[in-house]
Amino acid sequence: MKYLITGGAGFIGSHLAEGILNQNDEVWIIDNLSTGSINNIEHLKSHTKFHYTIDTIFNEPLLAELIDTCDIIFHLAAAVGVRLIVESPVNTIETNIAGTEIVLKLAGKKKKTVLVASSSEVYGKGNKIPFSEDDDMVLGPTVKSRWSYACSKAIDEFLSLAYWREKKLPVVVARLFNTVGPRQSGRYGMVVPRFAQQALKNEPITVYGTGKQSRCFSDVSDVISGLLRLVNHPKAIGEVFNIGSADEITIENLAFKIKEKTRSSSKIDYIPYEQAYETGFEDMQRRVPDLTKIRQLINYQPTQNIDQILDKIIGYFRGLESPNSVMKSLRDKSQ
Ligand code: UDP
Repeated sequence: MKYLITGGAGFIGSHLAEGILNQNDEVWIIDNLSTGSINNIEHLKSHTKFHYTIDTIFNEPLLAELIDTCDIIFHLAAAVGVRLIVESPVNTIETNIAGTEIVLKLAGKKKKTVLVASSSEVYGKGNKIPFSEDDDMVLGPTVKSRWSYACSKAIDEFLSLAYWREKKLPVVVARLFNTVGPRQSGRYGMVVPRFAQQALKNEPITVYGTGKQSRCFSDVSDVISGLLRLVNHPKAIGEVFNIGSADEITIENLAFKIKEKTRSSSKIDYIPYEQAYETGFEDMQRRVPDLTKIRQLINYQPTQNIDQILDKIIGYFRGLESPNSVMKSLRDKSQ
């Protein structure tokens, strides 16, 4: 099987590429390194079944050729991270919508299977916990730019499902909940790498709001194995699936846990949302997936709990900081 990953030098994309190589399949990736990093794929470059192109998915002839070469496409290229969305809303909306449009259009010509990565953000501020795939989206007003991300992903989902219904293009939509693991950068605001690095440097741990808001973090290895099984299951075609973990932790408790695990002397700083993001920023209080649908189809079950996940991530960052690490200076540039 030949796979293409758009956004393949990103955190999730690079783990997915590794997963594909581990099952002895061939993988092509395309990435413009806007949020991804060449360091994420450094260890894969010498693999004979790994091919990479540093370019934008808006280079249509190139993308058409890559799609032609492959059997299955994972469309992961997107502008992600709440901070990035608040800072550059134009880029977020354009990349997310136009990028999916071009991938679906080209895949449609060759009838290639596409898995489109969506996000739990599409549930917005809904408070019916847990979130099931058929639940309503409850989004905020257009004057609050954070909702542009949820809307752009919702349009991606509509478009994907429209290609399936109208043109019989085999598509699968996966709504990823907070996915974490080694190589995730804190640069775009993601909480776990930020807290881990702050704690290891004994710098203040920045809890936004009261810290009583919660998230369910899942290990990237569980997510990629689920994505690979989903895209290869005929009954997943034309369907939307939550993927992640349903183990909930408050952000404040996450900070305490990371502080304890790193034996850090960091203090915990509570920072108002308007200072962290923008005036009137609305956070989601809880975000828990209902995993019934994916469990029933592919027997999806997360294998890693929060302690195992955090130990792995802390170990990764400690490795980067070790003076003996040859890759240190290279990797530092990507953090
Ligand atoms: N957060 C925080 N401190 C940080 C970064 C994030 O308290 O330095 C909070 C953020 O406000 C949210 C949660 O952690 O409530 C998860 O944020 P992230 O950006 O990782 O993912 P989200 O679930 O918001 O997409």
